Amino acid sequence: MANKNSRVLATGSNQITQHYGNAGHGGCDLVKKTNQLDAITAHSDGTVVWCQSGIPNDQGSSGNRSYGNAVKLRHANGWYTLYAHMDYISVKNGQTVKKGQKLGYMGNTGNSYGAHLHFEVRDKSDARVNPEPYLNADLPGAETDEPAGYTGDLTYQAYTQKAWQPKVVNCGDGPDGYAGIYGSALQGLKIDAKNCDVYYRVHTPQSGWLPEVKNSGSGADGYAGIYGQDIDGIQIRVPQGFVDCRVHLKNGDYLDWVRFSKSYKDGTDGYAGILGKAIDGVQMK
Ligand SMILES: [Zn+2]
Repeated sequence: MANKNSRVLATGSNQITQHYGNAGHGGCDLVKKTNQLDAITAHSDGTVVWCQSGIPNDQGSSGNRSYGNAVKLRHANGWYTLYAHMDYISVKNGQTVKKGQKLGYMGNTGNSYGAHLHFEVRDKSDARVNPEPYLNADLPGAETDEPAGYTGDLTYQAYTQKAWQPKVVNCGDGPDGYAGIYGSALQGLKIDAKNCDVYYRVHTPQSGWLPEVKNSGSGADGYAGIYGQDIDGIQIRVPQGFVDCRVHLKNGDYLDWVRFSKSYKDGTDGYAGILGKAIDGVQMK
């Protein structure tokens, strides 16, 4: 570690092979030194909010697949860092990581033409910014001083098939990355945020919008829903910051993400779901 002068490579220094912004490049590409690989480390303390693995080299691919085996972290200031094209990843979704902790190993997966790290920095609204000023510097805002507006980890839980299913932290791919069981309608929902109170309510065809619930608890006030009634709409509000939520329709697909902030909105954009269509999965971040 003596000569280490990179926050995102375990032992090396950053040799940039392609800069941010070149031909729309949304990150910067790094190697340890010409043709030298390295383990990838977390830029700052954070939580794994998205990751994928099992992706081969797939030149010309687009979308998330183009990132190959990749990890996205959310940090205390609400910003994100993303690490792409790894040979393998060694963390999983929802996991808390420390600055410098190993995330995986540099590779050539996804839309990649030679092993390197593609590193992105994104602001609170998930918009890409030039990562190069932050390669060896803190993200804006004190890392340990979570600013107003950051809800912290979101933990949520679905009631379906007559039981509360496992809690989910933030969102991700695969069966652990959402609350619910595909093909089986949600009939209850609980939500908690690490840093603030979260208020929410659900809609059922029989009862309309049900009373608002604050955080999760035990008993009938501690969740939104009525056992035996399928949920077809979800609304959330947080006193500060925002929560992104999307739902999966029973026998359907995911709808678009809906961003909820300090008050409920009206109209069909104001809730997650399509009234009349049962929801069988939900994701939040
Ligand atoms: Zn790149």
